Amino acid sequence: MKHKITLIPGDGIGREVSEAAVRCVEATGVKIDWEEVIAGTEALEKTGEILPGQVLDSIKRNKVALKGPITTPVGTGFRSVNVAIRQALELFACVRPAKSYAGIRSRFSDIDLVIVRENSEDLYMGVEFEEGKPETRSLIEQIKKDTKKQIRPDSGISIKPISKFGTERIARFAFEYALKNNRKKVTCVHKANIMKFSDGLFLKVAREVAQEYAGRMVFEDAIVDNMSMQLVTKPHKYDVLLLPNLYGDIISDLCAGLVGGLGVAPGANIGDDSAVFEAVHGSAPKYKGQNKVNPMAMILSAVLMLRHIKEFKAADALEDAVRSVLVEGKFLTYDLKADPLDPSAVGTSEMAEAIIEKIKR
Ligand code: NAD
Repeated sequence: MKHKITLIPGDGIGREVSEAAVRCVEATGVKIDWEEVIAGTEALEKTGEILPGQVLDSIKRNKVALKGPITTPVGTGFRSVNVAIRQALELFACVRPAKSYAGIRSRFSDIDLVIVRENSEDLYMGVEFEEGKPETRSLIEQIKKDTKKQIRPDSGISIKPISKFGTERIARFAFEYALKNNRKKVTCVHKANIMKFSDGLFLKVAREVAQEYAGRMVFEDAIVDNMSMQLVTKPHKYDVLLLPNLYGDIISDLCAGLVGGLGVAPGANIGDDSAVFEAVHGSAPKYKGQNKVNPMAMILSAVLMLRHIKEFKAADALEDAVRSVLVEGKFLTYDLKADPLDPSAVGTSEMAEAIIEKIKR
């Protein structure tokens, strides 16, 4: 069967890593009709829009997309295209496996964690009040009236909404994912001791959902600061982590660090109707066009995509090929070398080529 899949190459290093991933997927023999659409700086230059309507239309139609990273300019009021796609398509679950592969230098081996991050609520909803604006002043007044708390008048404010609906949906997703993938434990990560009505609600609802899975899945919870320490000292204690949006973002980079860095961390954004597969890393603009960065995170995101479209054999073949290139240690990008200046480091396309060679064998 031929699959129709949306391809968003992204900007910065996006095109290089997406091209590498597409070539690897094609080498597995799975038939895919890629529908390429552009978003990000390239789209802005060509169409005047950072997220042209056809991007969302294409994903809605095809239900599956492979996406390269897209730059978010800082402090311009410019919304993140990545967040906009997740919100527009209600891709409420962000799944980020952090798995050790032999051949990658890292502090630990045999790590096999999965981060399930709520993707639609929390501080990422973009409900923000700019310092000095009349609406910000009136919100500060209202808060003073209702809570007797005095926020400084020169404050900017970001709102952190967490709902029962959103939490129940992501908690159920985490438990179902854990069951389907033979996992043993779900740990809810929060700061409920301080943010009682947002994180507190997240924990309460997660506990309620956990009861439905009692006897089938172990459930525990941890405060996010303690969890950060636990993860860098005893990561093997954990299995599936369930987190609200902001902590999920931070902890997934931390977990990427545990298994070898951003260059190797894949991800998926999943909703009821569609799914977008993308690396955890961003567009690393300083490396754009240098054929330098590691394509592995994007290739492993494509492995997740292949499993999603039920091409299990192709997914296993591609993951095995990545594994053997790593173990062989000959065709590795700079970030996988003990010394990043090691002249034997290869480029993005050479590493992809080595993976393709392994699939062919
Ligand atoms: P980044 O992930 O782009 O890069 C940080 C550093 O990580 C790089 O300088 C590089 O040293 C390393 N790195 C990243 N990817 C690598 C790879 N494939 N191989 C080897 N090393 C790699 O993070 P940033 O610099 O904070 O963000 C740059 C831009 O990307 C920002 O505009 C940010 O908003 C955006 N971003 C996009 C996404 C996305 O598209 N989903 C995710 C995160 C950040």
